[in-house]
Amino acid sequence: GLADIGITGLAVMGSNLARNFARHGYTVALHNRTKAKTDALMEEHGEEGMFVPAATAEEFVASLARPRRLMIMVKAGGPTDAVIEEFAPLLEPGDMIIDGGNAHFEDTRRRERELREKGIHFVGAGISGGEEGALNGPSIMPGGSKESAAALGPMLEAISAKAKDGAPCTTHIGPDGAGHFVKMVHNGIEYADMQLIAEAYHLLRAVAGYEPREIAEIFRTWNTGRLDSYLIEITAEVLAHTDAETGRPFVDVVADMAEQKGTGRWTVQIALDLGVPVSGIAEAVFARALSGHADLRAASRHLAGPDAGTERASGAGPDAAAFADQVEQALYASKIVSYTQGFHQIQAGSDTYGWNIDLGRIAAIWRGGCIIRAAFLDRITAAYDARSDLPSLLSDQRFAEEIGAAQDDWRAVVVAAVRHGVPVPGFSAALAYYDALRADRLPAALTQGQRDFFGAHTYRRTDRDGVFHTLWGGDRTEVSAG
Ligand code: NDP
Repeated sequence: GLADIGITGLAVMGSNLARNFARHGYTVALHNRTKAKTDALMEEHGEEGMFVPAATAEEFVASLARPRRLMIMVKAGGPTDAVIEEFAPLLEPGDMIIDGGNAHFEDTRRRERELREKGIHFVGAGISGGEEGALNGPSIMPGGSKESAAALGPMLEAISAKAKDGAPCTTHIGPDGAGHFVKMVHNGIEYADMQLIAEAYHLLRAVAGYEPREIAEIFRTWNTGRLDSYLIEITAEVLAHTDAETGRPFVDVVADMAEQKGTGRWTVQIALDLGVPVSGIAEAVFARALSGHADLRAASRHLAGPDAGTERASGAGPDAAAFADQVEQALYASKIVSYTQGFHQIQAGSDTYGWNIDLGRIAAIWRGGCIIRAAFLDRITAAYDARSDLPSLLSDQRFAEEIGAAQDDWRAVVVAAVRHGVPVPGFSAALAYYDALRADRLPAALTQGQRDFFGAHTYRRTDRDGVFHTLWGGDRTEVSAG
């Protein structure tokens, strides 16, 4: 019979999603630019379900039930446009094109607009969970029209991950680029989470003197508490792993230069445009960039500073177990700040583009399948359920209390890091954000004074309405500039 959905682009993600759909009883049409991949998939997994392999674009489209659901799983960017150009002329009004690649949301907005003129629904769907998630249940963030959401929703719910309470980890995020925007911020938050974990590891090693195996145990313990998450779990696995060739800790034989594919950078670029302070994500992107500057680092090794090892040997270091507890507090508090910033960015995107995104639902669909899945996300959903117009996660009473209880230890950890010369850009940027929000007065008043001095940019006053300018070059009287 005709296929319920077709997938073009059968590399690892497309193949696994096709198998996932088939396992849930859907008939799946298969297509790939290079036919050998289609044949290989049929050869290896053709028995798993109902597949309809197609050799040509025409054959592929003809095998789809109407309205057609055509999913693209090719390289993001130019290749996605090329595939859309190839297939759009073969489709009819009411058909759907679903792009499950890591597209930039501005591209998704453009493609949605162009295809809408032809009556075709374009669904930019963020998919998280890597290849394992694609096969066994990813977190899926689809944008696009309400009609396409109704036609696709049940299928996406079927193949998505399920949270502990059984709820599917997918929901209609909002119009046009909303899904890919939320996926982008998801990845930005993932960068921040990873950076904070890396800093915790670095401190436990350099300040407390623990070995990687011991740190793996500490992370395992943390994973039974409020930090329970996929990233903490795999951190313990990586730290406990021994390199087969050298017998040394795996983490000691890997080159310490972190790479990136770009979604974290996009998050920060867009945050700058929206004027949203996502300092935690930005520091995480910069930390990866810094690690990769091998020449700069080699040329800087002689720079003066404390040596954590020497301090420890002299007995000046903190009690290791007590310090580990403090690091857990600092990690948790910084994580709250990262999510506060990330959700602020989603809110700002939603306001700017008119997406009307339900922030509590976003946290709910990240509870399973995706890389940042964590017990913690239940609390975010609860915070938005209690108050849907929450101005910031930090205004939620429970988060405010938790971060308040953690803040003494958080400060102690940042102080210890500074004293021992261990870089903690994530922990300290999070703390600076927290203290800036708390501040009664910020030095921004001085900044405004400087701007008025050199550029006559004017300022407002605390005591009356209006816009003012001081005649700095003259007698320094104040004039109304409004
Ligand atoms: P790749 O990103 O490596 O893309 C390979 C696929 O793209 C192949 O099927 C290839 O066809 C096809 N392709 C490339 N250029 C063209 C073109 N010009 N015209 C037609 N087809 C083309 O595959 P992945 O499975 O890793 O990822 C697919 C998408 O999913 C990407 O957008 C990726 O960013 C996204 N994604 C990936 C995740 C992951 O963990 N890998 C996680 C979440 C999303 P051919 O065989 O003919 O070369």
